Amino acid sequence: MNAVLSPKATGRTTQEWQRADAQHFLHPFTDFGALAKKGSRIITHAENIYLWDSEGHKILDAMSGLWCVNVGYGQQALIDAATRQLKELPFYNAFFQTATPPAIELAELLAEVTPAQFKHVFFSGSGSEGNDTVVRMVRRYWDILGQPERQVIISRKNAYHGSTMAGASLGGMSYMHAQGGLPIPGIVHIEQPHWFENGKSMSRAEFGKVAAGWLEDKILEVGPDKVAAFIGEPIQGAGGVIVPPETYWPAVQAICDKYGILLVSDEVICGFGRTGNWWGCETMGTKPDLMTFAKGVTSGYVPLGGVMVGERVAKVLIEQGGDFNHGYTYSGHPVACAVAIANIKLIRELKLVEHVRDDVGPYLAEQFKTLEAHPLVGEVQTVGLMGAVQLVKNKALLAPFAPELEVGMVCRGHCFGNGLIMRAVGDRMIIAPPLVITRAQIDEMMALVRRALDLTLADVKAKGWL
Ligand SMILES: *Cc1c(COP(=O)(O)O)cnc(C)c1O
Repeated sequence: MNAVLSPKATGRTTQEWQRADAQHFLHPFTDFGALAKKGSRIITHAENIYLWDSEGHKILDAMSGLWCVNVGYGQQALIDAATRQLKELPFYNAFFQTATPPAIELAELLAEVTPAQFKHVFFSGSGSEGNDTVVRMVRRYWDILGQPERQVIISRKNAYHGSTMAGASLGGMSYMHAQGGLPIPGIVHIEQPHWFENGKSMSRAEFGKVAAGWLEDKILEVGPDKVAAFIGEPIQGAGGVIVPPETYWPAVQAICDKYGILLVSDEVICGFGRTGNWWGCETMGTKPDLMTFAKGVTSGYVPLGGVMVGERVAKVLIEQGGDFNHGYTYSGHPVACAVAIANIKLIRELKLVEHVRDDVGPYLAEQFKTLEAHPLVGEVQTVGLMGAVQLVKNKALLAPFAPELEVGMVCRGHCFGNGLIMRAVGDRMIIAPPLVITRAQIDEMMALVRRALDLTLADVKAKGWL
């Protein structure tokens, strides 16, 4: 483990960094004015699952950066792969009937580690761009098949599919739709399979079937001959680590099959071992036609995304499609692809998928289960190395706090204060730690989680909110 950096080691003091940041840097998903007053936390250094800020605080990163640093920070194999490729060929495009060895090799490797129906990949620079490609590709597919009226893509409320025009439209975040005239035409949403929010009056199994039925209702409302595809995250990530009932995805698959519509699995978070299998669709038991990936493909070391294209779609595009008028300058970027290759090889070498499935995943589930005894906790869910803790006002009734109290933010404040990064989605506290985390590190994380919950409980009591 590297030594803690002194604040001076970055060349400027925290205040100097914060001032320059406030003057020039507009952060994503941020109230610019409020942050400029408060000042950013400046992250300067990282190793394994730990971050350090410019004040020298050590922080356990239970969110893997932003769901992406799956192999942990400081992996030499990824650093070497990038360095080697930067020297050899930092960039060449794939537009003009050319290709580079890393892009070809990564395409080959992805075909190996994805389910059998996937033999082809279309590269993008991010998950959002990957989902833009999905929209273009599924509509093109139906065009080629002589069904151009099949344009509508069905998604879900509270889904996250990125922040480009198409990504944000596919997503079901109402606060995103409220800015910029979204969703774009031809994208509609159904309610999410969130038992705690939408299904408490039923058993989970029963609710899963009801929630899948909303897809069929929507297909019939739109007209089965107008629906191109259904897209969903196997487990909603940014929406709050919402694990659907086991009955949900098999029923969704059956409905897609019944109407012949394409199933798109957005695996940007669930892919590359996060759920204890290589892909979330394997954990949930579906056979998607397309899969979006990003984040974990390079463990976030450099940006890369893409779409795995199943044979049903690839065959039509290749054999009957002609030109596909779509692509990005960085589709198949050689440095990003070289890092991805090193990352996938490292996942295999360290047996991280098995580590999550057989060891730390079950251990996290067991540890999280103990949180159910806490007075503030109404529901706990985990799959692999994703977890959620739902904070409630009344445990017996599973009654939530008033949203304006922002109890989740109070809890998040205590996490930060004690050296733990855990995210709050409303009053749902979520984690997705690096896949390299050990049992001992999970114990360390759990102690910090319990402490944050206890401090939150004390605050809530003191304020008379309980
Ligand atoms: C993060 C995310 C995206 C968007 O990826 P970007 O690389 O931020 O564009 C899309 N889908 C899901 C499920 C994500 O979590």
